[in-house]
Amino acid sequence: MKAQIKLGRIFGVEIGLHYSWFIIALLITLSLAGQFSLNNPDWSDSLRWGLAIITAVLFFAAIVAHELSHAVVAKARGLPVRSITLFALGGVAEIEREAADAKTEFWMGIIGPITSLVIGLICLGITMALGWRPPEFPRQPLTAMLMWLGYINIALAVFNMIPGFPLDGGRVLRGIVWWITGDARRATTIASRVGQFIAFGMIVFGVMRFFEGAGFNGLWIAFIGWFLLSASRESYAQLAITEGLRGVRVADVMSRDCPTVDGHSNLQTFVEENLVRTGRRCFAVTLNGHTEGMITPSEISDVQRARWPYTTVADVMRPLDQVRTVGLNTPVSEALEVMAREDLNQLPVIADGELAGLISRGHVLQLLQTRAELHV
Ligand SMILES: [Zn+2]
Repeated sequence: MKAQIKLGRIFGVEIGLHYSWFIIALLITLSLAGQFSLNNPDWSDSLRWGLAIITAVLFFAAIVAHELSHAVVAKARGLPVRSITLFALGGVAEIEREAADAKTEFWMGIIGPITSLVIGLICLGITMALGWRPPEFPRQPLTAMLMWLGYINIALAVFNMIPGFPLDGGRVLRGIVWWITGDARRATTIASRVGQFIAFGMIVFGVMRFFEGAGFNGLWIAFIGWFLLSASRESYAQLAITEGLRGVRVADVMSRDCPTVDGHSNLQTFVEENLVRTGRRCFAVTLNGHTEGMITPSEISDVQRARWPYTTVADVMRPLDQVRTVGLNTPVSEALEVMAREDLNQLPVIADGELAGLISRGHVLQLLQTRAELHV
């Protein structure tokens, strides 16, 4: 999930919005305005809409607080957090690495629902201190807003504790099983099975409710179940890869026979004699015996074909100091994350300032395939 609109940074974590967020923000504001007019018909239109917008904004601030709590625990336990993105189904904190031990996984998961629960209880507490008693509906704008925020945050805490990946409850369950069995892989499998079982149950339940006449509510439950099912499969695959690659270093899988090309040769010759003939996609560029950069088809396609004979490889190469590189001892899972983040297919591997080889997604895939075939 990539944020398309950046809002700023809190504690060094980038906060952003995905376009799909606007849909849910609009729906929530509309439904709030509807509720307010139903319960307080004497309110003016501007009060109703103004309060609906403020309440919706505070609700999303509470979601950011929930995600920030994950981020703070992750950071405290040495896991870098890149960003928090709000999207149609809530918020997501992008943590760059998976937890390395059960306790981290447990605390990182459970802190979010605890935060939402505390926010919810504080809101309801203030509402009651201001004279509201359930189950009546508050007459004052401030109490009406706080009561809604109270209930919605508690609902958020409960929903997130559903023990299925990628919900917080899934992490908590995985943390507990990992803690008890000491086996991360087994914990992943169990947490993911439970998550899929619950998601499947939600789909069946939602569809049944729909045919019993529950209408939109039934479909909504089924939709969330379907979302959970696919998200849990995806995060399970992601975790399985991370676990499969544990302990593997870049030096183990990289290719060392990186073909080189002289930086002084022109593009025409390079394309005809190297690129087209060998079919390789990446070359190290040397100048006076030193590796200075890299060149791939994408750099060449930026140059007009007629200019190829007059342009040297060194003119268009990507200098090594401007390319993301990894070291021999970088974990392969980290290299894979860098490639995914920067949308690259390969990374140069640098040792002592010199190009030592290349690691590509293909190399990692091959390793995973081989291991899967042998069940090791
Ligand atoms: Zn959470």
